[in-house]
Amino acid sequence: MAISMDDLKKIDLFGDIEFEQLPRELEEARIKEFSPGEVILSPEKENRSIYFLLSGQLAVHLERPDSQMLRTIEPGDCVGELSLIEEINPSAYVLVRKSSRLLKLSNETLWEMVFDDGRIAKNLLSAISKRLLLNTQLILQEKVQSKKLEQFAMVDGLTGIYNRRWFDKAMSRHSNRYQHCQETFTLCMVDVDHFKHYNDEYGHQAGDVALATLAKVLSESVRPTDFVARYGGEEFAVILPGTGVTDAEIVATRLCSAVKQAGIVMSDGTPLPSITISMGLAQMCPGYTPTNLIEAADKELYRAKEGGRDRFCTCHLK
Ligand code: GH3
Ligand code: MG
Ligand code: MG
Repeated sequence: MAISMDDLKKIDLFGDIEFEQLPRELEEARIKEFSPGEVILSPEKENRSIYFLLSGQLAVHLERPDSQMLRTIEPGDCVGELSLIEEINPSAYVLVRKSSRLLKLSNETLWEMVFDDGRIAKNLLSAISKRLLLNTQLILQEKVQSKKLEQFAMVDGLTGIYNRRWFDKAMSRHSNRYQHCQETFTLCMVDVDHFKHYNDEYGHQAGDVALATLAKVLSESVRPTDFVARYGGEEFAVILPGTGVTDAEIVATRLCSAVKQAGIVMSDGTPLPSITISMGLAQMCPGYTPTNLIEAADKELYRAKEGGRDRFCTCHLK
């Protein structure tokens, strides 16, 4: 099919150019029709043409033709210009998304037009800079998205505090710092008392609200430099950097009473009974791995449970 005036008007590359002034080469150009699924450009195939979309829609896919679509190409836009200019294979797959009419110009024709008419060169530059701008925006969006995903992977869904994955990393960070800079820290393992009974009595949903409240109370009762994480189930861990057991005991006393006094309220306003916690404290010491420290704190937690709950016990090594 030969090209018409209406078709040419749609192409951004020929913007500002009168019909009579359009390059002679276009008289030879042909329009081809493509069906959905047809591949226009592929990283596996050398490209020697630039394509202008007159109607329909194309889709750009990065990794594979069937991977998630990166973006669409709309009428007026062109594809293939970068691989043509750089003489490299296309960087992505361009597939036909909706039945499309495309004007195909060869490499040689494009360069002849660019050399003959400065306005076409300017329009081509403008198309390329628009493409670069769009790509930059996509990269920024991707960065924001991956930051969100990263945070998501480190945060516990129910309570909104750090999860076990984050805790394990933080423990190895702090013990490295201890080995290299002798910067001590105390670990406090926290476990809700008789929580199975709480769930049985008031329901699992009430139990969830109690855990979310506990996370909030713990977080608000420590300094901004301390860390609270959900270790698993109804167990939490508090890392107190730069703190020895004596000072950690003051924190533990505060945590015990803050939790006991905290009101627990369902989303519909129904009040629930408060909970109590038991804790085990252990300070990092020479030769200890994170696992040793967790075991030592757990042992104290067990003693606190045995001792009657709603209390803490401390590991005194030295
Ligand atoms: P103890 O004082 O000895 O710690 O007794 P306990 O009942 O708290 O201990 P146990 O290990 O027998 O029970 C823990 C309970 O915590 C059982 C489990 O269903 C509940 N639990 C763990 N994770 C969640 C959760 O995400 N939501 C709710 N609602 N309950 C949980
Ligand atoms: Mg437990
Ligand atoms: Mg428990």
